[in-house]
Amino acid sequence: MRFPILLAALALALTAAAPPPALKPGEIRLTYLGNAGWEITDGKKTILVDPFVTQFARWAPGAKTPTPDELYAPDLALIEKHIPRADYILVTHGHSDHALDAGTVANKTGATIIGRETTANLARAYAVPEKQLITVIGGEDYDFEDFSLKVIPSIHSALDDKHYFNNGRGITGNAPSGLKAPLLRKDFVEGGSVAYLLRLGGHEVLIMGSMNFIEREMAGLHPDIALVGSNSQRLEIHQFTPRLMRALNYPAVVLPTHADAYGNPKPSEAITSDQNRFAAEVKAASPGSQFIRPTWFEPITLPARPAYADRSAINPAGISPLVPA
Ligand SMILES: [Zn+2]
Repeated sequence: MRFPILLAALALALTAAAPPPALKPGEIRLTYLGNAGWEITDGKKTILVDPFVTQFARWAPGAKTPTPDELYAPDLALIEKHIPRADYILVTHGHSDHALDAGTVANKTGATIIGRETTANLARAYAVPEKQLITVIGGEDYDFEDFSLKVIPSIHSALDDKHYFNNGRGITGNAPSGLKAPLLRKDFVEGGSVAYLLRLGGHEVLIMGSMNFIEREMAGLHPDIALVGSNSQRLEIHQFTPRLMRALNYPAVVLPTHADAYGNPKPSEAITSDQNRFAAEVKAASPGSQFIRPTWFEPITLPARPAYADRSAINPAGISPLVPA
């Protein structure tokens, strides 16, 4: 009797997440996953950044964030719900709010993790196979055929009133090899920081995971989209927003990241007013930029970059086409 099988198939079809609509050539879709986490796709490749959907578990009734000495496990239900696919996972540094979910997501999706040695060692603790780990140090510019990735040397937010390296919290340094999950929260040390320039689908996306940067490493880049680490820790940094906008040649689109109060559905007045202050900083420093405040899990589709879509620019009238028609 086939009826139950049909019913089961129908139930599955109703519960499975609807596939996102197809993208036109040159379009790119960014979906905010909370904290510094993003899904970025051109419809062919799906690149994640610092996936940390576990952050949303802490706001459930009765939930609490583990102390540094307690076990900190990725939330499997949240990962299942929010991360259906990935080809690559870019990790900016090893802190738990950036690297906690990466190993589990890699094992679920088969994605390759890119990050520093600490990121790789944390993923190895979850038995991620070596072929799914690409270790970088910053300075690489790697070609992956469908996209390319420039790894940008960077520095971490100046936590604890700039006493980041002597704050007594043990969150700097490198994670050793040989770790085995389950891990403690304090196992997720920084291990150095990188930013990324992702060239995908005709776009260049600047990706930050902290409220800090090395100006000379950003200078001369031309991203059309910038994911800018922007919580109040940026105020520790001299002229954070104007220096960054200038170095990046005033990106067409700026999206704040790492400024969502760790998934708090009711952020404090201080946090929301600082979010507005950052938007005003961008407007003042780069008036031509479109500022988009992302909403968790709501896809943002951006059109083809003009230079990519407008072939007339490289095929002026009266001159033989430079590219196949
Ligand atoms: Zn961090």
